[in-house]
Amino acid sequence: MANNADRLHNAALAQTTVATQATALTQGEIALLHERATDAATNSYSPYSHFRVGAAVLLYADAQQPGEVVAGTNVENASYRLSTCAEQSAIVAAIALYGPGIRLRAIAIVNLNGEASSPCGACRQTILEFGGSETAVFYPNTNGETVWTTLGALLPAAFNLARE
Ligand SMILES: [Zn+2]
Repeated sequence: MANNADRLHNAALAQTTVATQATALTQGEIALLHERATDAATNSYSPYSHFRVGAAVLLYADAQQPGEVVAGTNVENASYRLSTCAEQSAIVAAIALYGPGIRLRAIAIVNLNGEASSPCGACRQTILEFGGSETAVFYPNTNGETVWTTLGALLPAAFNLARE
């Protein structure tokens, strides 16, 4: 078991190194994203599913502000279809704080249930609205591994509409 755990840990480290190179994210930025997402997950409102999810977005810096990290969590409702995903919650919070011009450099998703949880289809499209195909996405896979990918890989035929 120890060997298996070591292998998983080493694989996760190798994967993080690859992610850092590919996205130009620092290890510190990746760690901060996961920390903030995990903190947010502890505030999850999920009395029905008990699936506690957190997400944190890293915003691109601009002339007005440094790249900030903003987190969100899932919020369920007795009328299930009104529930909000953690990813959308984080993006809404970021817009409330920094305005409609935010751009997403990366997003990390975690859950406290030890389950795999890639962003759902609706969240992929929401991430695209404020990100791009290059936006880095980190999410938990089975076996506790963190998967790194890009939004372009998760949503290859995205719906786009010209903005006026
Ligand atoms: Zn979702």
